This record gives sequence, structure tokens and C-alpha cells, in this order.
Amino acid sequence: MVEGLVIKAIGGFYYVKKGNGEVVECRARGRFRKENINIYVGDRVLVNNPDSKTWVVEAVLQRKNLMVRPPIANIDQCILVFSIKSPDFNPFLLDRFLVLAEHLQVNIVICLNKIDLADNKEELENIKEKYNKIGYKVLTISAVEKIGIEPFKAILIDKISVLAGPSGVGKSTLLNIIQPGLSLKTGELSEKLRKGRHTTRHVELIELEFGGLIADTPGFSYLELDDISPDQLPYLFPEIKRAQGKCKFKGCRHFHEPDCEIKKLMDQCLIYSERYESYIAFLNEICDKRRNLQ
Ligand code: GDP
Repeated sequence: MVEGLVIKAIGGFYYVKKGNGEVVECRARGRFRKENINIYVGDRVLVNNPDSKTWVVEAVLQRKNLMVRPPIANIDQCILVFSIKSPDFNPFLLDRFLVLAEHLQVNIVICLNKIDLADNKEELENIKEKYNKIGYKVLTISAVEKIGIEPFKAILIDKISVLAGPSGVGKSTLLNIIQPGLSLKTGELSEKLRKGRHTTRHVELIELEFGGLIADTPGFSYLELDDISPDQLPYLFPEIKRAQGKCKFKGCRHFHEPDCEIKKLMDQCLIYSERYESYIAFLNEICDKRRNLQ
């Protein structure tokens, strides 16, 4: 038996890359279905070819995480791509993506694309500074003017990465630049194709020429916060998590509680008010949904 990585799954076949680089087409062991064992792209598996013709997945090794939509296991990092213009930069939407990525417990890098369209450098620097202070790495890129492409490639080396972000921000354009053979459709055509083939679309990990793997499909196609509990939420904002122990109240939700340290930090401008607003909006959203389900 040898260990390998599932790089594609389609129609009951799994394409597994073995340690020697060879990719073999596999079936799953029959008992997997009975035992409810699923195999996802990104899974590390043990494969065997008992009759030296067909390959079989014998076991799925423990995963460190699993993204649900699209289903990809063992992601090392989420690259959150947002544009500075066209569509306009939306900090609340970025916070939503950040919370979802934090929940997956993966490394996060923010890429601000389309800097060629930025009206002024100051706005760009302010955004960069804000997220740096929170603790996130921020790359500034222009895919069309090929600015910031090398640092972008550097963060992908030897990792399993997923690009995520709103549509139209340049994710497909960036993938095409780093892997020219891909020829992904960009712009409106890509949107139409994506919608049209939604049900039959499979996920695939693309092997990057310079090392590393990246999903060919953007992450977080579902932006609801359903799997996050109100108690988990403060831990998904790194700056709130850091200050969490300072609150007098155990289990403080940093909302109505008097003397809350997080609210004080926000009043002293040590926690960005916009981030606190996102936190409260998400907390309300999660609590409302849970109340409606009761
Ligand atoms: P996706 O939906 O995130 O995959 O976005 P696309 O890659 O399809 O890009 C949407 C549109 O933005 C296309 O018309 C691209 O040509 C354009 N675009 C992508 N990157 C840049 C950039 O850096 N600057 C400018 N001005 N346009 C870009």
C-alpha cells in the first residue's frame, strides 16, 4: 500500500497522486459506502493495486480540515482576493470571508487586486495597514499590469491553496497568469459558464509549475455562517481573540455587557470600529437564525 493525494474526484473515480509523482485512477473500497466514508479532493489516502491492474483507495487518512462548498480537504491556506475597484472594495464582505476562513483554521492571505484602478495610494495603504495590524498578510496586485505577481506565486509554493472572494475581482485572471496553460474563462463569460455548469462541476487541484496545488474552483460558494456558534465567533476575529481574556465576564459576547474590555478597546480606537460592527452584525445574524430554528 502507498500513500497519495486525491487531486480529482469525478463519477466515482478518484485520481490519486502517489509519492513518485504518478497519478493513478482509483475506485473506493466497496465498504466505504456502507460505512459512510467519503473521499474528497485534498484527502491523503492509502492506495493499493491488488490485481496489479486497477487501483483501490483502501483508507482515508485523518484530515486537518474540510471545506464544504466546494468540498476540499486539508487546505493549507485561503487566499482571499478582493479588488480595490470594479467591484468596489467591501470591508464587511471581506470580514465575512475572513470569519469563514478562520473557522476552517487555515492560514489566510489577503490579496488586493486591480490596484491599477486605485484612485489614490493612501486608500490602498490604509486598507493594507488595517489588516496588517489585525495580523493578516496583505499583498497588493494588478493582474493586468502584472504587478505583485512574484510575491503572489511565492506564497503558493508547496501549499494546498484555495482562492476565494466575490465574483469579478480577478481570481480566474490571476490563475491564468500563474499557470498559463489553464486558459480559464474570465469576466462575464466565466460567470455564465460557472452558473450553467453548476450542478456537474467537479473540483480539481491544479499542480502549479513552480510547486504547490491550487483548487480550480473558488472557495466559499456559500457565505452563510450556519456552522459558527455565537461562542466561537469572538475567536474568529484575531484582535478580539487576543483581548478575550481581559474581559471581566466569562463568556462575554462583547455586546450588551457593561465594562466590556473589547468595547473599551474599540472606544480607544485600538480595535477598528468597522470590525466591531461586523462582529456585532454576524453575532445578531447567527443568534437570529438559531432563534428562528427553535
Ligand atoms: P473572477 O470572477 O474573480 O474570476 O474575475 P475575473 O478573473 O473573471 O475578472 C473579472 C474582470 O476583471 C475581467 O474583465 C478581468 O480582465 C478584469 N481584471 C482582472 N484583474 C484585473 C486587474 O488587475 N486590473 C483591472 N483593471 N482589471 C482586472
